Amino acid sequence: MSDCVFCKIINGEIPSSKVYENDDVIVFRDINPAAPVHVLVVPKVHIESLEALNHENIDVVGKIHAAILETTKILGINKEGYRVVVNCGKNGGQTVPHLHYHVLGGTVFGEKMV
Ligand code: 5GP
Ligand code: ZN
Repeated sequence: MSDCVFCKIINGEIPSSKVYENDDVIVFRDINPAAPVHVLVVPKVHIESLEALNHENIDVVGKIHAAILETTKILGINKEGYRVVVNCGKNGGQTVPHLHYHVLGGTVFGEKMV
């Protein structure tokens, strides 16, 4: 998608602070961090949101989760724990229409999500 900000990061058209990358997934620091550690785990294929997953592309979810495990080790938050968030669509507060998982750590989150 030519006008997608995350596709531009994947293509190297926009710089990012990359933490981890493989053939299928890229992980970079959020430009506006909501926690001491805040990275975005993003599939390289353009999928609009969680709702755009289907039988053809669902395998990417396993790849995203594997990348999360690599990332939390790299960032040293795997032992203490962290929060994973996916916003979906307008009511979910999704602002970038390219599937991404937020991984947040380096602090203690409360019990409540909202
Ligand atoms: P959403 O609200 O869609 O779940 O999350 C989008 C996230 O992308 C936000 O936390 C926002 O700060 C981050 N973001 C938006 N544009 C850029 C960018 O150009 N670079 C980086 N690194 N993060 C971005
Ligand atoms: Zn995209």
